[in-house]
Amino acid sequence: ITRHSEPVSQINGTIEEIFFYLNNIIALAFLLYFAVLYVIEMRNMQRNLRVENVELEEQANYDKLTHLLNRNAMAKYFEDAIALSERDNKDFCILMLDIDDFKKVNDTYGHDCGDEVLKTVARVITDDVRQGDAVFRWGGEEIVVLIRSDLKVATSVAHRICNHIAGAVTTYQNKNIKVTITIGVAAFIKGMTMDELIKQADVKLYYGKKHGKDQVV
Ligand code: GH3
Ligand code: MG
Ligand code: MG
Repeated sequence: ITRHSEPVSQINGTIEEIFFYLNNIIALAFLLYFAVLYVIEMRNMQRNLRVENVELEEQANYDKLTHLLNRNAMAKYFEDAIALSERDNKDFCILMLDIDDFKKVNDTYGHDCGDEVLKTVARVITDDVRQGDAVFRWGGEEIVVLIRSDLKVATSVAHRICNHIAGAVTTYQNKNIKVTITIGVAAFIKGMTMDELIKQADVKLYYGKKHGKDQVV
């Protein structure tokens, strides 16, 4: 920054000098002020974008009602599990669960009550599995669980879930509702596809439904 004119007198010159510096200081202060504002605003926008991204991912992969993973998210989890099994011999199994006589709950207490029961079931299952396992809402009242262990462990987890669900109570408008579930368990065998594995568990689930429900097959 340069001065444009020479001072006319000493006093005028001093005043002019003061103005000159004051002017620059004010200009710099403004510049700094807006620069800081700009940085803060950019940071805010970045944070908002991050939050929106997380929300979008939530919507894409999670079920709104139960907060379980949805069907969309399954392929990725199963591809990983299948790859780990083929490469590192890591066992995994699936549980296919279906609430018994759920239609009766809806018919007796209403659909909103049914929704609450579904939430209870989802919560109990989530509490019963390990961190590395995954719980998916497969369909209406059908839930798939990926258990990263062998058939023996998966079966014992299934029994635990079955017992806990039978003991869990959903309170809705001062009424206590209990449900049971039936579970089909299937172990992954190398060479299988995800669909074949799910089919196997489904066949077992169907067998359990035909043979008294509230059980693990
Ligand atoms: P089963 O023991 O053979 O499984 O009998 P079920 O009555 O559970 O089986 P069915 O498949 O006949 O009925 C499932 C019911 O689940 C019907 C459907 O209205 C209900 N349902 C599915 N999704 C939801 C939901 O998100 N909320 C509620 N409240 N009900 C649902
Ligand atoms: Mg069903
Ligand atoms: Mg059912």
